[in-house]
Amino acid sequence: MTIAVSQDLSPALVLNADFRPLSYYPLSLWSWQDAIKAVFLDRVTILAEYERAVRSPTYSMRLPSVVCLKTYVKPARNPAFTRFNVFLRDKFQCQYCGSPHELTFDHVIPRSKGGLTTWENVVAACSPCNLKKGGLMPKQAGMIPTQTPYQPSVHDLHNNGRLFPPNYLHDSWLDYLYWDSELDPE
Ligand SMILES: [Zn+2]
Repeated sequence: MTIAVSQDLSPALVLNADFRPLSYYPLSLWSWQDAIKAVFLDRVTILAEYERAVRSPTYSMRLPSVVCLKTYVKPARNPAFTRFNVFLRDKFQCQYCGSPHELTFDHVIPRSKGGLTTWENVVAACSPCNLKKGGLMPKQAGMIPTQTPYQPSVHDLHNNGRLFPPNYLHDSWLDYLYWDSELDPE
């Protein structure tokens, strides 16, 4: 799973006022037009620039490659229960066989047996596994999710999002992207 980012659009990495990306997945990026608009509205500070500039007869400005919001945006406490976020929690892998292909949802306790559509009962599953399990209980089917489904925090999704960097990363972004990740002990 990668997010396609077009280098030609000279996107600006957008940081929150604490210098961390507003979001990791998808990575918070603005088009250069939006970034410049925000500069003129005094909403952001420019931290790094591209070589490329926009010019008018009287004026020239290098395109921002990293901007930082002047006002801190508080992240939502609980992430929304969406298709995308379930996949992100499960790292875009079928929770039965690990396949990243043909992902869909599975109710661990089937709906026909009273299973609910909640964080705790829905997992990412590939179509073949989903079909195979059908209306069976996990034990009956011999299919137990590798990870017990849970309600993730924004922090959990943030961490998983780092595993899927976009296809293009400008050099100036790297200083801000992974510096707050946990260090592995030697
Ligand atoms: Zn599968």
